[in-house]
Amino acid sequence: MTCPLKKVSVHIPFINIRYFIYTDFNFRSRTSRDRRGFYMMSNNNYGNQTEWNSTPVTIIGAGLGGLTLARVLHVHGIPATVYEAEPSPTSRAQGGMLDIHDYNGQLALEAAGLMDAFRGIILEGRQAMRILSPDGTVLLDQVDDGTGGRPEVQRGELRQILLDSLPAGTVRWGHKVISIRALGGGRHEVTFADGRTVITSLLVGADGAWSRVRPLLTPAIPQYTGESFIETYLFDVESRHPATAKAVGGGSMFAPAPGGKLIIAHREKGETIHTYVMLTRPQEWFAAIDFTDPAAATARIAQAFDGWAPELTALITDGDTTPVLRPIYALPTGHRWDRVPGVTLIGDAAHLTPPNGEGANLAMYDGAELGKALAAHPNDIERAITEYEQAMFLRSAKVAAEDAEMGDNVAERLAYLFDGALREERQ
Ligand SMILES: Cc1cc2nc3c(=O)[nH]c(=O)nc-3n(C[C@H](O)[C@H](O)[C@H](O)COP(=O)(O)OP(=O)(O)OC[C@H]3O[C@@H](n4cnc5c(N)ncnc54)[C@H](O)[C@@H]3O)c2cc1C
Repeated sequence: MTCPLKKVSVHIPFINIRYFIYTDFNFRSRTSRDRRGFYMMSNNNYGNQTEWNSTPVTIIGAGLGGLTLARVLHVHGIPATVYEAEPSPTSRAQGGMLDIHDYNGQLALEAAGLMDAFRGIILEGRQAMRILSPDGTVLLDQVDDGTGGRPEVQRGELRQILLDSLPAGTVRWGHKVISIRALGGGRHEVTFADGRTVITSLLVGADGAWSRVRPLLTPAIPQYTGESFIETYLFDVESRHPATAKAVGGGSMFAPAPGGKLIIAHREKGETIHTYVMLTRPQEWFAAIDFTDPAAATARIAQAFDGWAPELTALITDGDTTPVLRPIYALPTGHRWDRVPGVTLIGDAAHLTPPNGEGANLAMYDGAELGKALAAHPNDIERAITEYEQAMFLRSAKVAAEDAEMGDNVAERLAYLFDGALREERQ
């Protein structure tokens, strides 16, 4: 079906689909090129080797943000140590697919000198996208013609590329930070769960939503957004779940409905479908569900999707893994802080938002930008951090403002939008 309507800027969880949704609503539209221009403004190139006269940069957290920072610093000859709470690189599954955008995530990988390795892990065809109504009607079906600017990769493979690009010993696994003490003059003492400590003159919090570094800069605490995701997996879908495999298609599938409901499914590597079921409910509603009883839990969640096409509800009820509840938290929009010597934040630690397809991309971009700023001003760390923070506050506020423009309830708005398109199509 073709959608005979005008282009609209739409931001939905996990994916930026602002380039290819068409509607009869008169919203402001943007292109991938507009965004790339915005990011390129602050994307200067610096030389490769840097005279560094300080302690190694101390990075807390080996997520995509912290590892990108460590890699860009390494490219510029600046030593860094990454302290990670998890005991090993393989101790936790790394989640599903990420679309890496040509206007931020890919620019970070360019700065890290890892574009060739990145191209090697791209999953062909996964930029395809469909939007379905609750009864299974296909409202939008976009194929992946290979020209999109947001190729999909497995998060674990991307993280592995970054890990492999660092000198041995850069990441210290099993180092959970429990407290940090300011020593004055921009120096900090970091204490780990086993009692060990390090003292550093440049501390970077890349430790995600519940950052231990953030309180040094700001009292802000993430708040529940009113939405939670329930995560499920279906394996061997072509043979075991053919109707659902057909409904999801070869890339991403979104099925929104009024009442704050949205099913998002991704065709991952192999014959796996990874699903996030989004529900707008208070946390007490979820607390009343026993997630240790997968059958009862998924049956309760599926009740909220009563009357939906069975190939869609199968994504909830036929899961091959125990469903995982993921309440969504966010920092206040426009979150920022006054400069505190010797410490800063990148990624979710700095600007946690509800999933909007930008979080991992922004974390990597932050890491690359901070790395480049430090390389540009090796003898003036405060100037480097100030430049990085000012640009970071601006871009994260811009993304948050675009999300806000979409309104509080994305599922509601998408459902309304595509219901209208479908009605027109039927007339
Ligand atoms: C359900 C869901 C789906 C998402 N999907 C997408 C998507 O499709 N695309 C996208 O771009 N973004 C997505 N995001 C957002 C994305 O996951 C985050 O924005 C991104 O991972 C942030 O990277 P980061 O490096 O800042 O933090 P993280 O990835 O959270 O990494 C932080 C690291 O710090 C470590 N750490 C934490 N505390 C400590 C401590 N005290 N001591 C030492 N180490 C510590 C953690 O173990 C972790 O390794 C999604 C988020 C959610 C919740």
